[in-house]
Amino acid sequence: MAMLRDLGSRDAQMEQLIVEVRDGLLEMAGVSKARGYECVIVQGSGTFGVESVVGSVVPRWGPEEAAAGVPEPHFLVLSNGAYGKRMASMCDVLGIRRTVLQWDERLVPTADEVSAALAAEPSITHVGVVHHETTSGVLNDIDGIGKAIHAANPDIVYIVDSMSAFGAYPVDMEASHIDYMVSSANKNIEGVPGFSFAVCRRAHLETTKGFARSLALDLHAQWRSLDDTAQFRFTPPTHALAAFRQALREHVAEGGWPGRLARYQHNAKVLKDGLASMGFKLYLDDAVQGCIISTVLCPDDPKFSFQCESGTCLFLLCVCCGLL
Ligand SMILES: *Cc1c(COP(=O)(O)O)cnc(C)c1O
Repeated sequence: MAMLRDLGSRDAQMEQLIVEVRDGLLEMAGVSKARGYECVIVQGSGTFGVESVVGSVVPRWGPEEAAAGVPEPHFLVLSNGAYGKRMASMCDVLGIRRTVLQWDERLVPTADEVSAALAAEPSITHVGVVHHETTSGVLNDIDGIGKAIHAANPDIVYIVDSMSAFGAYPVDMEASHIDYMVSSANKNIEGVPGFSFAVCRRAHLETTKGFARSLALDLHAQWRSLDDTAQFRFTPPTHALAAFRQALREHVAEGGWPGRLARYQHNAKVLKDGLASMGFKLYLDDAVQGCIISTVLCPDDPKFSFQCESGTCLFLLCVCCGLL
C-alpha cells in the first residue's frame, strides 16, 4: 500500500521520508547523531552497501604513498562462508591488500583466535566480519571479536556485515567498538529490495573524504549529500524507501528487535521440531545456530528429491524469506 504513492525524488515529502528512515535506523541500532553516529543509505542491494564501505573507508595507497613511507593499509577478512569470501573479492577488485582467515562454515572465529591473528600480523588496519553467515545460518560473535580488535589496537577499523542479522539480533555499536555496520532493506526489517545502509561512527567517517574508489559508491559523498540536502546524489529508490518506512513502523510495533527475534525463534523451533519429526537433521550445532537460516542435510532416501544445481547435500530454509 505504501508503494502505491508515487513521490518525486526531490519532493519535500520524500526528503522528510529519508530523514525519518535514517533516524529510525539509528534508533534501531541503539545510537544517535548526538552520540556520534550517522546512517548512510546506498542504492542497490546489500552487496552495494558492503562494497561502498569497503571501497570508501580504506585510504588509497599507491606509488606516491609508498615513496613517502606511508604503510600500506591491510584488510583482514574473518570468513566462514560465502559472504566473507565476497568481502575478500571486493578487496581484490578494489586493489586493497587483504588477508583472509578462513573457518569451516560450521565453525565460528573466536575472540582468542582473532587476538592471536592480530598479534601475528601487526600491519592490519581494517577487519571485516559477517554477523550472521547466511551461507549456513551460523551466528558469529561480533561483540567478542570487536573487543579483541579494540584491545589489540583501537585504531583498527571494524566493519560488520550484519545484513541478515540486524533487525532481529542486537548490534551494540559502542560496546562492540563497531565503526561500520551494514544491512539492507529486505532482510529482517522486511522491506522490499532496493537499497542498503551503513551505520557509521562519525569520527571515522569524517576522515574518509576522497578515499572512495568509486563515484557512485562513495560513502562519504553520499553522507554529505544526505546530510546537507536530505537528498540522494543520484535517483533514490523512492518506492522501496516508502515501503521501508512502513516496514520500520511495523518493526517498532512488533517490539523492535526483541519482538522480531522472539517471532523468528518461535518459527525456527516449529521448523526444527517439524523437520525432526520427519527424520531430517540440521547441519549446524545448536551452539552456533542462529534462528534465521536453518540448513538441513538431505536424507539419503530414494523418495527424497531436491533440485539443486551444485548437487550438494544441503538445503536451506529461511524464517523470513521462505525456502531458499
Ligand atoms: C543478503 C546478504 C548480503 C547481500 O546480498 P545482496 O544479494 O547483494 O542483497 C550480504 N551479506 C550477507 C551476510 C547477506 O545475507
